[in-house]
Amino acid sequence: MIAVIGAGVSGLSCAWWLRRLGAESVRVYEAEARCGGKVKTVRHAGALVEAGPNTLLADDDLLAWLRELDLTPVLPPKDAQRRFVLRQGRYRLLPDGPRSLLLGDYFSAAAKWSLLRGVAGRHAPPPAGETLAAYVRRRFGAEWLDKAVDPFVGGVFAGDPEEMLLEEALPRLAAREREPGSLLAGIWRAARGGQLRRKRACTLQDGLESLPRRLARDVDVRLEQAVRALRRDAAGWLLYTDRGVTRASQVVLALPADAAAALLAHEAPELSAACRQVPYAPMAVVASVVPAEALPRALDGFGGLNPASEQVFALGHLMVGRLYPHCCPPGSALLTSFVGGRRQAGLAALDDAELLSRLNPELERHFGLQAAARQTVMRWPRAIPQATAALAEVRRALAPWPERGLHVCANWLDGVSLPDCLAKGKRLAERLAA
Ligand SMILES: Cc1cc2nc3c(=O)[nH]c(=O)nc-3n(C[C@H](O)[C@H](O)[C@H](O)COP(=O)(O)OP(=O)(O)OC[C@H]3O[C@@H](n4cnc5c(N)ncnc54)[C@H](O)[C@@H]3O)c2cc1C
Repeated sequence: MIAVIGAGVSGLSCAWWLRRLGAESVRVYEAEARCGGKVKTVRHAGALVEAGPNTLLADDDLLAWLRELDLTPVLPPKDAQRRFVLRQGRYRLLPDGPRSLLLGDYFSAAAKWSLLRGVAGRHAPPPAGETLAAYVRRRFGAEWLDKAVDPFVGGVFAGDPEEMLLEEALPRLAAREREPGSLLAGIWRAARGGQLRRKRACTLQDGLESLPRRLARDVDVRLEQAVRALRRDAAGWLLYTDRGVTRASQVVLALPADAAAALLAHEAPELSAACRQVPYAPMAVVASVVPAEALPRALDGFGGLNPASEQVFALGHLMVGRLYPHCCPPGSALLTSFVGGRRQAGLAALDDAELLSRLNPELERHFGLQAAARQTVMRWPRAIPQATAALAEVRRALAPWPERGLHVCANWLDGVSLPDCLAKGKRLAERLAA
């Protein structure tokens, strides 16, 4: 039997592909009463609200697979793709292509020049252990860090570019940087080799949680069966739950790093200690539903990112009603705000009343919020694992275990995004099935 521990998107993808590839006996153990982990869709004030991810960045293959599963991807209107970044208290449109980047005034002339030089010139490969911030400063200059990379890292990872590693956070870019010649030549080669695929943001008609629910239909998931301990003997692995002990030949750890650390303490203390060091960013997610006319200055696009240098309360806001109008009751707007992250961790722990009393003036200032919004606060004390130097130690300690039947398939190793989690589940399933 192959045991998968954790029914988030990573574990379910692995189990689903194992079944598709003909594995006879696969079982998923899940601590909670529901599948999906961080992917969670709720109803609030008549709106379809995502407590976790709002967007799946899908290429054509992924879109086709979703349709094969009878799910309905919903793409945002074209003009809703525009992204804004807060600069000196005002949202500015982020350039969305080479033309607007070079002709617009979002970046200074010096920053445009340093980008051209960085992309087209020859360069030395990045030193091992270089942080994202150090890389961007070295290759493109401080303005790029402040105006583009910092808000991007805050928006995607709720993270701090000063501690995230280039190699771990953006491995494809790191690989390209190690190739000889300019970055531009590497991008050109990748485009010609079909490695650069067009990706589009989407959600699903019934919310993103319909994906894990759909995957779970095809696999044997045991809900409310937390694995409490893992042991190993000459015949394989033993999983202890409140309902008894089960044997497995292979174990897939698809649960958060701290929960994996607890399970590994007895059999793999070194790996357990390494997993315990993986840092997480906490986040509070606030969904605000208001009559559309009560948000007169809503951003005309995807949403707004707030770089650390602006020192404002929220990490950013998503104009969900604009992106995915079907999520809102007619005549309403849905705005989702993100608070906390690695650099403002304490804010994610504020109680609801204080959190809203600090968020709402910001919504009023930036978007003209006029009426009392119907708001819900959703919390993730350990929202997003951070791609820091701690992962190098995890990789080292993990290396001998796959041949002893222990594998990791979770968002804290090799990519945090939903497509990354889905892809690593498929890759591991192919390896195990072979
Ligand atoms: C607020 C937020 C916004 C995000 N936005 C986006 C986005 O827009 N786009 C995107 O691509 N990604 C986004 N992400 C990231 C993405 O949602 C996650 O990385 C991904 O869903 C993680 O999946 P996972 O299966 O690896 O882990 P998890 O979802 O954490 O699943 C792990 C599962 O293991 C279970 N478990 C824990 N302990 C045990 C145990 N002892 N026994 C059995 N089961 C156990 C848990 O209950 C859980 O169900 C976001 C994440 C958050 C939190």
